[in-house]
Amino acid sequence: MAYENYEPVIGLEVHIQLQTDTKIFSPDATAFGAAPNTQVDPISLGHPGTLPVLNEDVVTHALRLGLATDCSIAPRSVFARKHYFYPDLPKGYQISQFDTPICYDGVLDIFPAADADAATAPEDTLRRIGLTRIHMEEDAGKSIHDAGGTTRLDYNRCGVPLLELVTEPDLRSPREAALFLERLRQLVRYLGISDGNMEEGSLRCDANVSVRPRGREAFGTRTELKNMNSIRHVEQALDYEIARQIAATEQGETIAQETLLWDPDTGTTRPMRSKEEAHDYRYMPDPDLVAVSVDEDMIAHARETLPELPRARRHRFVEEVGLPPYDAGVLTEERAVADYFEDTLRHLYKRTKGGDTDAQAKAVSNFVMTEVLRVINERNLSIEALPVGPERLAQLVFLRLQNKVSSNAAQEVFEAMLEAPDQSAGAIADARGLIQVSDRSAIAPVVDEVLRDHPDQVQTYLGGKEGLVGFFIGQVMQRFDGSPDPQLVRSLVQEGLEARRDASSADE
Ligand code: ADP
Ligand code: MG
Repeated sequence: MAYENYEPVIGLEVHIQLQTDTKIFSPDATAFGAAPNTQVDPISLGHPGTLPVLNEDVVTHALRLGLATDCSIAPRSVFARKHYFYPDLPKGYQISQFDTPICYDGVLDIFPAADADAATAPEDTLRRIGLTRIHMEEDAGKSIHDAGGTTRLDYNRCGVPLLELVTEPDLRSPREAALFLERLRQLVRYLGISDGNMEEGSLRCDANVSVRPRGREAFGTRTELKNMNSIRHVEQALDYEIARQIAATEQGETIAQETLLWDPDTGTTRPMRSKEEAHDYRYMPDPDLVAVSVDEDMIAHARETLPELPRARRHRFVEEVGLPPYDAGVLTEERAVADYFEDTLRHLYKRTKGGDTDAQAKAVSNFVMTEVLRVINERNLSIEALPVGPERLAQLVFLRLQNKVSSNAAQEVFEAMLEAPDQSAGAIADARGLIQVSDRSAIAPVVDEVLRDHPDQVQTYLGGKEGLVGFFIGQVMQRFDGSPDPQLVRSLVQEGLEARRDASSADE
């Protein structure tokens, strides 16, 4: 959607559910989808006399995300109690960080100009989105509202660790907001701190949005959108809300600062409550918890354990591995796919021992982008669960590079390998008679025989009907016992025909 006279201004608040063995302040398990109220010890439920103890992994995860987004790290940050009543919050307060977030002043880059094809985005189209803060907090439980009007409570989620990330109001369109969320999801997955799954609530986003006449510096009054559980919904909700705010402004109405719920069924927003202020929550430092101290050693350690991040990896795939930028973008979209690609390539290099490594990388890339990604999408598999692992894929690519199988045969072998997890690519190709004969001395006699048996066609060809070459190739393929390399057959047929041309002109 284009907004001629108005510019949207958007800031996001994202809750990232962390993957940890236990909750943020208690030894409870955190598995998603467990039977209701089975992961609830007295600390999670806020029983009197219980004491929260901070899970160090939560700090480590926060540092990883903070460092990956160039945040400053607070040497000392405190947990606060944020008070409010809701049935899914048994303590009557949520433990969160308030005036001292552990990470602040960071940045995450997006590439909106390359919208249609993010994989080939030139680096200079980047937009730097400021991150105000990233803080640690606990999640609340879940209220499940039945159609019959009953509400049931599942406290399993109480105390599940979250990071809350708040952006500066730097985003300028719903599309940019969606791209930001895609990059953030990719990053938390690379870092291994969250599965980033929006549908399951591992990534939850509230969007703040206002509009201002183009050219004006001051921001308009914002509304806050909640309840969007996919990136597409965030984009749709923002589109709707921006149009609503512009229409209201045009009619001289003032925008009320309020919280709105997105309704995916009607594609509209409706008011939920007027916006609360910080002082409404009666924040106070939590007296049960000591301040979180982060020293230089912890930061250095977290920095050392960061994986190679998506942009650096993509860059390396182009500069060092020799892939086209498009391939590098597709293959680094998910860390597990990039790992699979690189493992396959390592196994392939062991076989090829040199040669044109760019061509080898491209051959593996083609296989991963077409066959591998297609199959994992169709079967809804993670790449780790694909029956064809990197070592076996390398066997197949090697067969293809040596021209031992045709490209059609390679696809057939790949399909067969999916069903036969312990057979090598070579064994499968052999058993199916798909190994190409690429030995000239085996094919040449058959070519000779075919040309000898069809003197009329040879004369017609030599008379100028070069299209007949396909006929001879077909005859050779038919007579040959096995699968001759079609490339080689073609060149032998052409050589044989030309030899006859030379012979007949020598006769004259
Ligand atoms: P809150 O009290 O709601 O947490 P914050 O000041 O922390 O308020 O802002 C929340 C989010 O709203 C941030 O992502 C910020 O970038 C964004 N924001 C602030 N002002 C505006 C505005 N006028 N228009 C759009 N977004 C805004
Ligand atoms: Mg907030």
